[in-house]
Amino acid sequence: MPANKKILFLAGDGIGPEVMRQVRRVIDWMDRRRGVTFDVSEGLVGGAAIDQYGVPLADATLAEALASDAVMLGAVGGPKWDTMSFDKRPEAGLLALRKELGLYANLRPAQVFDALVDASTLKPEIVKGLDILIVRELTGGVYFGEPRGIEDLGNGEKRGINTQVYTTTEIRRVARVAFELARKRSNKVHSMEKANVMESGLLWRQEVTRLHQEEFQDVELHHMYADNGAMQLIRNPKQFDVIVTDNLFGDILSDEAAMMTGSLGMLPSAALGDPDANGNRKAMYEPVHGSAPDIAGKDLANPIATLLSFAMALRYSFNLDTDAGLIEKAVQNVLGGGMRTADIMAPGMARCSTTVMGDSILRELDKLAA
Ligand code: NAD
Repeated sequence: MPANKKILFLAGDGIGPEVMRQVRRVIDWMDRRRGVTFDVSEGLVGGAAIDQYGVPLADATLAEALASDAVMLGAVGGPKWDTMSFDKRPEAGLLALRKELGLYANLRPAQVFDALVDASTLKPEIVKGLDILIVRELTGGVYFGEPRGIEDLGNGEKRGINTQVYTTTEIRRVARVAFELARKRSNKVHSMEKANVMESGLLWRQEVTRLHQEEFQDVELHHMYADNGAMQLIRNPKQFDVIVTDNLFGDILSDEAAMMTGSLGMLPSAALGDPDANGNRKAMYEPVHGSAPDIAGKDLANPIATLLSFAMALRYSFNLDTDAGLIEKAVQNVLGGGMRTADIMAPGMARCSTTVMGDSILRELDKLAA
């Protein structure tokens, strides 16, 4: 197979480089064992880029990201850069990447592996086998709407203002991502808003309905008020397949869904932008967790969130569903065999390092591909 799959690796700070090293090992394994070759380049982002270039995202790195089929990101940030002004901090590099790549659809899966069912705070029968995907609108809504600010009204009184605003285009493009993803999964979408009390929510419902009628009638569509959605997620999360919602509700609902899985070290994510003429979307894949300065450099971090993010890249950017499935299955089997990094350690299990978790997953991949 030709080496035409271009990935930019931005390992970032803290545990970023450690967990991304395990992805590099899987990429080498795919080259050797599956005949799938990637053209991998590496760059600096966040604190590492500040130290080297004085900015959290250099122009050349951004150009490289724009020219890549997918970006794999580790994590950014750390105490060393915490005192810098907000626009110069490591996180600004991440926000710039999302903005410049136009990544408006944030995909946050919440999947409960059988071996970790007890790590959830919910009862095992509620979460066993859970596999849902939240698609959160990422670049619009109340976090970006104008006017915004704090006004002084005099007499010691102030007014804080944020504006919830969505256009037809913003709603349709993220709903399209959700419908397309549902077709690759269990073919069901729940759209969540507050159409009962918010005009932006009403427009959201109307536009999702219209798109569904025009192009996606084969997909099952349900509308739900976001407050009811929050309740239903805890009551019976397995009723959902794909949930699509706005930036604010998505922020909250995706964290709620994430906690069903029990550990930050297990959660992957993706952010997708517009498709090009060939249907390929700009995309960035990253674990949900941060740079974990408290354990950085100690070979303690759980690499699974990052490996599962890479599996998402295989599925959504490269159409390599079989290979994505192999990685997910390898993770499942290694956990089933009792191997645990410190963050998911449980009585009777075998505690291991980042590297040993990587070794175990590679060994399992060897078995699965034999
Ligand atoms: P964090 O996610 O880095 O860590 C929270 C806790 O979870 C820590 O105790 C950490 O040790 C643990 N943890 C996180 N990932 C783990 C893993 N893979 N394996 C084992 N344990 C893991 O969040 P924080 O402590 O609030 O933030 C630390 C830094 O990361 C800050 O500078 C913050 O701004 C940054 N941050 C970056 C991102 C990102 O790059 N997307 C996201 C969140 C936070």
